[in-house]
Amino acid sequence: MKILVINAGSSSLKYQLIDMDAMELLAKGLCERIGIEGSKLTHKNVTKGIEKVFEQHMKDHSDAISMVIDALVCEECGVIKSMSEIDAVGHRVVHGSETFANSTIIDEKVMGALEECSPLAPLHNPANLIGIEACQKLMPNVPQVGVFDTAFHQTMPKKAFMYALPYEYYEKYKIRKFGFHGTSHRFVSAEAAKMLGKPIEDLKIITCHLGNGSSVSAVNGGKCVDTSMGFTPLDGVVMGTRTGFMDPAVVTFIMENEGMSAKEVDALMNKKSGVFGVSGVSSDFRDLGKAADEGNERAKLAIDMFCYSVTKLIGSYAAAMGGVDAVVFTAGVGENDAFCRAKIVEGLEFMGIKIDKDANNIRGIAKDISSADATVKTLVIPTNEELMIALDTKDLISK
Ligand code: AMP
Repeated sequence: MKILVINAGSSSLKYQLIDMDAMELLAKGLCERIGIEGSKLTHKNVTKGIEKVFEQHMKDHSDAISMVIDALVCEECGVIKSMSEIDAVGHRVVHGSETFANSTIIDEKVMGALEECSPLAPLHNPANLIGIEACQKLMPNVPQVGVFDTAFHQTMPKKAFMYALPYEYYEKYKIRKFGFHGTSHRFVSAEAAKMLGKPIEDLKIITCHLGNGSSVSAVNGGKCVDTSMGFTPLDGVVMGTRTGFMDPAVVTFIMENEGMSAKEVDALMNKKSGVFGVSGVSSDFRDLGKAADEGNERAKLAIDMFCYSVTKLIGSYAAAMGGVDAVVFTAGVGENDAFCRAKIVEGLEFMGIKIDKDANNIRGIAKDISSADATVKTLVIPTNEELMIALDTKDLISK
């Protein structure tokens, strides 16, 4: 069985073709600048290690999907003989609101419900829907499945997801914590249980997805009980360009004192803040690390603030679950940045969290980095959201 995984953004589209029988990634690629001058598709045949760039105008997502299919069947760099080898398509959908607590096969009714979720993620969901529509048009007989970033967090208890606003705002607008990166938190928590050789039902796990966007989740018995992103992906950990948690009164103060509109202050908090805003250097942790090593005090401060925000969440989620068996690091920073991992868990020895310096000196591989005397395991686990989407798709279409 071969499954195409699609992650459609407003002007980009990422894809992977996975052979589910061999559990092997066959090809992957990226369409950029869809609908904009200079569009191109970068396709990689993973099996043969060949990369090819197709520079051709894509006026919309249908054009992009057509080009992806052409690349997949291309004689020189393709991996399948014909489109009919694609058994199903799994789509990443950012927001499933309270409607979707699980992945789902997409039919007309589901498309309607997905459209209703769009106001909650206006930058992402419409693009995801365009990607689905384009696939439906080009592959009308191939089942399409939606996998939601928010779904894993739907098990949070009400006391965790409600904000202490007047209740009518929850009823009127669904203003509540939704959480994001759910597919990643679900994948790495399941992998952690496998690594520990224990049923996930018996484990309390804190998953730290630390990348350009970051979130931390408390996973008790395989179910998410709390997560750090909120109504939008702005809340929680200090991020590349996002503030993370902050007194909401700062927003109105800035609006009044800087004469900013709601839109302007939203852009300030999402695109110009975080470690980028504090350091004035970069949102990329590699640049920040380099600047800090060269003595840049604001870069050092930004890294400190980021790490401290994660440390505090680990403490509070251990309290929320009444204990913790494992802390998992994943995503760009979590998988690669040994310095940040060490800094985050520094001082958590009182909870039994302690890492081994040599074991921590790794990048991008799954590894138990706990020290021998730690009572809580610390694990590095590369995330694989695409594989999770493909696994869900396979499960649903096999039923
Ligand atoms: P992601 O959003 O998961 O792709 O993560 C992107 C972040 O991971 C960026 O801030 C990168 O600087 C960081 N990152 C990627 N590779 C490394 C590395 N080798 N060392 C430190 N940070 C890294």
